[in-house]
Amino acid sequence: MANEESIRAFVQAVSGELGSEAISTGEEVLTRYGEHTLPGPDLRPAAVAFPDSTQAVQKLVLAANRYRVPLYPISTGQNIGLGSRSSVRAGQVVVDLGRRMSRVIEVNEALAYCVVEPGVTFQAMYDELVKRKSKLMISATAGPPQGSLLGNALDKGGGSGAYADHFGTLCGMEVVLGSGDVIRTGDGSLESASHLNWHVSKYSFGPYLEGLFTQSNYGIVTRAGMWVMPRPPHIESFFFTFPDDTDLHQIVDLIRPLKLSNFVPTQIRATNDLYLIAADCVHPEYGQSGGKKQITDEARRALQKRYGLGSWTVSGAFYGASRQAVQPQLDRVIAHFTRSGKGRFIALEEANEIAPLRISMNSYEGVPGEGELKMLRWRPGGGTIWFLPRTPMIGSVANEFHLASRGICRDHGLEYMVSNVCGPRFARGVHTLVYNRGDAEETARADACYRALALEFAGKGVFVGRAPTAYQGFHQGQRMSAFVEACAAIKRALDPNGIIAPGKYGID
Ligand code: ADP
Repeated sequence: MANEESIRAFVQAVSGELGSEAISTGEEVLTRYGEHTLPGPDLRPAAVAFPDSTQAVQKLVLAANRYRVPLYPISTGQNIGLGSRSSVRAGQVVVDLGRRMSRVIEVNEALAYCVVEPGVTFQAMYDELVKRKSKLMISATAGPPQGSLLGNALDKGGGSGAYADHFGTLCGMEVVLGSGDVIRTGDGSLESASHLNWHVSKYSFGPYLEGLFTQSNYGIVTRAGMWVMPRPPHIESFFFTFPDDTDLHQIVDLIRPLKLSNFVPTQIRATNDLYLIAADCVHPEYGQSGGKKQITDEARRALQKRYGLGSWTVSGAFYGASRQAVQPQLDRVIAHFTRSGKGRFIALEEANEIAPLRISMNSYEGVPGEGELKMLRWRPGGGTIWFLPRTPMIGSVANEFHLASRGICRDHGLEYMVSNVCGPRFARGVHTLVYNRGDAEETARADACYRALALEFAGKGVFVGRAPTAYQGFHQGQRMSAFVEACAAIKRALDPNGIIAPGKYGID
């Protein structure tokens, strides 16, 4: 952490060079940018900067190098359950790129990509495409509509549609390195006045540097190209429900061939009862147990009955010219999931009446919505931690992990809430630990629960794909030391004074 004197000199230099609107040390601002939903105290920054251009970001980085002040870049800081707006350590200067860098620089209809600054949110891009009467659609997330397209992609966030791999849709970035140098990646690195392939051709010539800027602290991305999909004339969501907890075994084995063959173009989600239902109601037994116990199976079954859902709900979507055109695919998928006698098809008319399923439909249709975030109200106190491992698409393996996680959550008196977002070979297991952050004992249980889950998965050979700031150092410590050393060596090369987010993703 920089000392007070260097922070003061830095703030003065930045406001001299970029104007007083480019940096704040206001009490209310520092409090707000320190807030998060994880265990542990809020992490108050030393200041918050608001650059308005790549040149301004470069000037900030150069000043930070001069005064040895650490900078923590965020796009919009809507990374709820993973750190929100707060830096990885207290006393860093949060760089809020989104506030003043929120331009949609280009929408290319022919080649189906857009070029955005960090402040372009899911909602803003959706609105922009509607305004332009564009034929393109974004890949929405179940997260906040005010989250950044670019921030989410850089942190390897995911959607549910065919373009769900958001980092994979990035193509061509402009980056201010920790040294203050500005680079264009890929074909953009060509010394030329124009770059025809910057946002269409991936990998380009030589090493692929874009991977360095995901979940790292080597640079600040000031703009990037992102591929988007032409909106199909018709999107038909489908839903199935399975009654028993251990049905996950057959569900995963049923999903795998549909994804390996690309018969279903979207991700297929296998979501458990409480993950869906918690978006629409609160813990019915919280008062009774004082939050100390996991919901009982009787109360869980009663909720399942109320919402007409079983233990697991499977969802996905087909794209086609019309409802009629996708009917044969739908018929095949219905036969596939109902063959064993356990899966029940939920017709669209019925699904429309079940609030938690409407949230999924929106997401398949590329419409941002608050939906799933409402699950944070399941328990009082606003605490949530996301645990994000990935497991291979083998039913017996998925079910073994599910039973272990359910047991660990029960042992810590917390609910098991998970959505398995399934691709062909692995599923992202989005686990949400909702707890009362206003209660120290419950917070300690949530922290212990996260660590127990992480150790259980790691012991069986499964790592996380993304992690909350509070646990990034812990996870980096689970890796082979040569890998950790390689990360540190790259840090020294690109950011010799360790200016950008020291400690982020466990890299110093
Ligand atoms: P979102 O707006 O999607 O919630 P955040 O702004 O919270 O995303 O950022 C998510 C993660 O990505 C954080 O770890 C943040 O430090 C990192 N990040 C976001 N934007 C940038 C950027 N433009 N350059 C470098 N890192 C970034």
